[in-house]
Amino acid sequence: MRYPALSDAELEGRRVFLRADLNVPLENGKVADDTRIRGVVPTLRYLLGNGASVVIASHLGRPGGSRNPGLSLAPVADRLEDLMDMKVTFAPDCIGARVSTLRSSMRPGDLLLLENLRFHPGEKEGDEQFARQLADSADLYVNDAFGTSHRAHASMVGVPRILGGGYAGLLVERELEVFQERLESPERPFTLVLGGAKVSDKIPVIENLLTGLDRILIGGGMAFTFMLELGLEVGNSLVELDRLGAAGKIMEDARGRGIEVHLPRDIVVAPSTDRSDLSRTVPADSMPDGEMGLDIGSGTVEEFAGVICSSSTVVWNGPMGVFEIPPFDAGTRGIAEAMATASDSGTFTVVGGGDSARAVAEAGLNDRLGFVSTGGGASLKLLQGDELPALAALRGART
Ligand code: AMP
Repeated sequence: MRYPALSDAELEGRRVFLRADLNVPLENGKVADDTRIRGVVPTLRYLLGNGASVVIASHLGRPGGSRNPGLSLAPVADRLEDLMDMKVTFAPDCIGARVSTLRSSMRPGDLLLLENLRFHPGEKEGDEQFARQLADSADLYVNDAFGTSHRAHASMVGVPRILGGGYAGLLVERELEVFQERLESPERPFTLVLGGAKVSDKIPVIENLLTGLDRILIGGGMAFTFMLELGLEVGNSLVELDRLGAAGKIMEDARGRGIEVHLPRDIVVAPSTDRSDLSRTVPADSMPDGEMGLDIGSGTVEEFAGVICSSSTVVWNGPMGVFEIPPFDAGTRGIAEAMATASDSGTFTVVGGGDSARAVAEAGLNDRLGFVSTGGGASLKLLQGDELPALAALRGART
């Protein structure tokens, strides 16, 4: 699917409504990690450089539809001023009379950052009236919030509908280049690495990619549903009983197509996540009763790393264990390192955002990987072959 690009837009003297993803972590009222703010800078420079003025809108955290001063975008405005090296006006709200006045007095080259969209319930509800207020006096819409593009929120879908469609920002364009172009006909062998807790989220990804895949590596909590289906004991590990049949069918389909499916050969077990002092590694066919599998073992890391490094394209989504709690992060770190090593020798490596992207960033490996997505849920939907509602709205007709 192709979407209008910024290079198609007539920007001179126009007022742009830019939906960005400035949902950054805050600590003591300051931006703790400015990666997402940096991410939108190229699009801002492009828009301003081509004669537009830009109203920037974003959400931050989960204020639940009401004003929460701890989740204000004010610290983001300060950081954005530093990064852009120019004045950024900060609006006290995202809609209303005062914001309207600020918007109507904008001149080409001006930047105005609106307050947190989610201070209003209309944002998440996709409310039409709220969207109309957001669209107020804007000439065109640009979406650079890839990580929220699977949500039909007012600023994501309502505003472009009202403005007759819109344009993909540079960050969104780069995500689409990877997920829709490069991965459409990947260089083979093509390996998919899946982990995380939810089997239900990942099964549609395997189903969609099955025809072009060569290897599937399954770790994380989701592996236990597959292992149980194969008749192995999994103790108290996470399982989705209602997905046993689907897991069995995937393995059968994969076998029928000559796709290798690798499951963990060894598992790090403990009675619970808070008893890491009792953790130990056991073979996958000898999991003890009453304990939980919380990470893949080092033998599995070695096997998976070998497959990753002998692939031409690798896509990874989902941690290999409960990576938030050491020592159950070792498997995830091992896979992140294998991805980096593979990249160094020419494999095209893609990390599908969310937890796996966090693990890669924590290991300081971002720069060595082919592409790290800014959207976990959104990239998963693209890998499932779904069109993202906010991107579909860019093609829309005026309402
Ligand atoms: P998901 O959103 O499905 O990608 O799941 C991510 C979550 O899976 C993370 O919070 C991990 O802690 C969790 N996870 C990974 N491996 C396991 C496991 N073996 N048991 C329980 N939770 C896990």
